[in-house]
Amino acid sequence: AALSDIPGHTGLDRIWKALPQARLVGGCVRDLLCGREVHDLDLASPFPPEDAQKRLEQAGAKVIPTGLEHGTITAVIDHHPYEITTLRRDVSTDGRHAVVAWTDDWKEDAQRRDFTINAMSLDQDGQLYDYFGGLDDLRAGHVRFVGQAAQRIEEDALRCLRFFRFFARYGQGEPDKGACQAIARLKDMMTRLSVERVAMELLKILSGPQLLRTLELMEETGSLAVLLPHHAPLSALKRLLACGDPSEPLHRLAVLYPPGGADGQGLAEIGAYLKLSNESRAVLAALAKPKPELAATLDDDGLRRVLFQQDRSILLLWSWLVQARELGRPDAGWDELRQRLEALEQPVFPLAGRDLIVLGVKPGPEMGQWLKKVQHWWLEQGCRPDAEACRDWLTGQLSPR
Ligand code: ATP
Ligand code: MG
Repeated sequence: AALSDIPGHTGLDRIWKALPQARLVGGCVRDLLCGREVHDLDLASPFPPEDAQKRLEQAGAKVIPTGLEHGTITAVIDHHPYEITTLRRDVSTDGRHAVVAWTDDWKEDAQRRDFTINAMSLDQDGQLYDYFGGLDDLRAGHVRFVGQAAQRIEEDALRCLRFFRFFARYGQGEPDKGACQAIARLKDMMTRLSVERVAMELLKILSGPQLLRTLELMEETGSLAVLLPHHAPLSALKRLLACGDPSEPLHRLAVLYPPGGADGQGLAEIGAYLKLSNESRAVLAALAKPKPELAATLDDDGLRRVLFQQDRSILLLWSWLVQARELGRPDAGWDELRQRLEALEQPVFPLAGRDLIVLGVKPGPEMGQWLKKVQHWWLEQGCRPDAEACRDWLTGQLSPR
């Protein structure tokens, strides 16, 4: 991939004018090299943050001191943000907080990064600096720690999760043995991480193309049980993924927690346990509810009735979960049901209160009752009657012959 294809590359010229020694670092270099979409342009420079800020402002950039204590400022050029961090080396770390000092040594900065594929940098002439064989590892799908895996995990246990995240995305072949052994030994350190950070990493792991292999790895190292107690056996997941992969991380999480899971730790509860957003929790809770009204044998009238009362995306997903659980049973019909469900128009009840007023119904509790009645009739007809048909039916009910 070329730098000139990336949104925001134009602002780089201004940054390099102000900070000629600055280099692109971390994820954007990695993703540029393997042709993946680049989303953030992160840079590093040997200038202390205040110096860098002054120089950028002189070059006409707006600068926001987003994390001065970590040496990070954000330059905004043509509405595009660039994170620029001063080169750092570790002074000490207690497994949660690192104490850092500025340096002008690029290799020292690369050394404190987690994996070889994340430790490369690229300067304005397109020169790649790859101190630990990151490019070869990237090509081979090797996720390898910079330095000793165990030591790097002891410094920061989040790196266990990051290992799985990057393996899920880039991993090929056998995972790094040393890393897996270190994770297996130190996995309990992850219990000290905040739930929010764990959840964020988990959702990233769940969006990776190598999900199944990664989850197996997490199971083999004992990490999965630490992170997601009471998860369903992976054999179930394997079967589930075989009948159509939803690819949404949240939906993949749902696969890991079939409804009716163990005491207070099932699909309905996992959203709260991981402190996910209310929106995500609502999706998981809706998926956890049984939907006896949805059956593969439903005709279109029945399907419309269900569709009127339930969100289509939840129904599709739920049918997929059920199908997966029933996998092996011949001819369950769920594939066809899903196609029909997608093709059906969203039913909208065609009458409102004002339509009833025209027919002589007085506003108040009586109107509510009549509305309910006519809607009930409309549902029984498979949501097919239009406004006129509903009015006719209602007229007949209001003045029985
Ligand atoms: P993504 O594309 O998912 O954002 P990324 O590589 O940009 O991947 P970030 O979490 O944004 O990941 O981190 C940016 C860079 O900072 C990484 O590439 C890595 O060099 C470094 N880094 C981030 N977190 C850690 C950590 N816990 N330990 C060591 N280095 C880290
Ligand atoms: Mg990033």
